[in-house]
Amino acid sequence: MRAVDIIQKKRDGEALTKAEIDYFIKGYTDDDIPDYQAAAWAMAVLLKGMTPEETTFLTLAMAESGDTLDLSGVVDIAVDKHSSGGVGDKTSIAVVPMVRSCGLPVGKMSGRGLGFSGGTLDKLESVPGFRTNLSKDEFLAQLGSLGAVLTGQSVDLAPADGKLYALRDVTATVQSIPLIASSIMSKKIAAGAQAIVLDVKVGNGAFMETLEEARELAKLMVSIGELSGRDVTAVLSDMNQPLGIAVGNVLEMKEAIQTLKGEGPADFLEHCLEIASHMLVLGKRASLKEQARQMAQDSIESGQGFEYLRKLVEAQGGDVSFVDNPEKMEEAPLKAVVEAQETGYVAEVHARKVGETAIILGAGRQQKGESIDLAVGIMVKVKVADKVDRGQPLFVIHARDEETMTEARQRLLDAVKIVPQPVDPLPLFYGLIE
Ligand code: URA
Repeated sequence: MRAVDIIQKKRDGEALTKAEIDYFIKGYTDDDIPDYQAAAWAMAVLLKGMTPEETTFLTLAMAESGDTLDLSGVVDIAVDKHSSGGVGDKTSIAVVPMVRSCGLPVGKMSGRGLGFSGGTLDKLESVPGFRTNLSKDEFLAQLGSLGAVLTGQSVDLAPADGKLYALRDVTATVQSIPLIASSIMSKKIAAGAQAIVLDVKVGNGAFMETLEEARELAKLMVSIGELSGRDVTAVLSDMNQPLGIAVGNVLEMKEAIQTLKGEGPADFLEHCLEIASHMLVLGKRASLKEQARQMAQDSIESGQGFEYLRKLVEAQGGDVSFVDNPEKMEEAPLKAVVEAQETGYVAEVHARKVGETAIILGAGRQQKGESIDLAVGIMVKVKVADKVDRGQPLFVIHARDEETMTEARQRLLDAVKIVPQPVDPLPLFYGLIE
């Protein structure tokens, strides 16, 4: 077999066989196939597409390119969740303890923020001492004993995807639905997932800006699940405005804690209940979604969900007094309110612009590995369709210095649109693919 023939076959729009895809991915992982051939191949895939079968072969080849976790001896069914990333998305921090308190153990490997989208690990590190670098053995031990883990990726999961993703990033081949679907699913399968709830975000603060693209991606990932023997449910959720109120690491950690105590924002709570319900159904803790939703709601009302967050933080070395008293978390030195410049109805709170402003404040990174400021961020006080009066607070900026504060204010004024006529609220969800 030769790499050039496989590239040519894809260039001519033909479907590749499992043997060809395995050969290509193994060759690329082992450095036998150079970057320039992999780049040409990725561009051919972007232009010509892949069938669901080819995409499944690619997913499995990437999943098997490195270490894989076998959770079968630790949990009866390994359920995972994945969000395609957005602004204000602190869902995993609330949902993992919620479902655990309903009897479903979940060990989740999360990521750091990059670009305008935040990362669960950064938010968790708002609690002093919290370890996000558990070893594989620590991960398995805590999943077995406590049944709840939120940590970084300690094993070399799907290295072929890591290599290919870096290449795609610099060859304009990220925006390919089969390549995105196989990239996401390969990591979940390598992490041992038997059932997966995918939260596919749609909107200006998401990877997929249109509903059509998001639906296509979600359908393809559900097909990969079917063809590879995993149960997958995909939720299409809105990311045209930030989720919840808080954007920024400490602020979002506090909001996740408040939500587990039943004091969180309504949209974020609803989002968590939806994701948790699907996880409980896939994990066979409930047969119907309504029953699962009630269980998730009860976990908040009884305080059991919050209790499991405390246990999780404690197990991972965090100072649990910061969970009990979130006001102990670091506060940014400067705070300022951005007021509405006119009276009317909120027509837009542009998620991506808010996320980019958080980066200007120091809450996010432009490049992998950059350090970030956990305390800074933005509290978003309005949602689309709200009626506002001139002078009413739209945002509260938490900044480190005057310079970033001034720039953030300008950017936030540009992120919000107020119109004279009433506006419909944005839906939280656009659909479900099972
Ligand atoms: N997230 C991933 O993990 N991979 C992609 O290709 C895009 C988003």
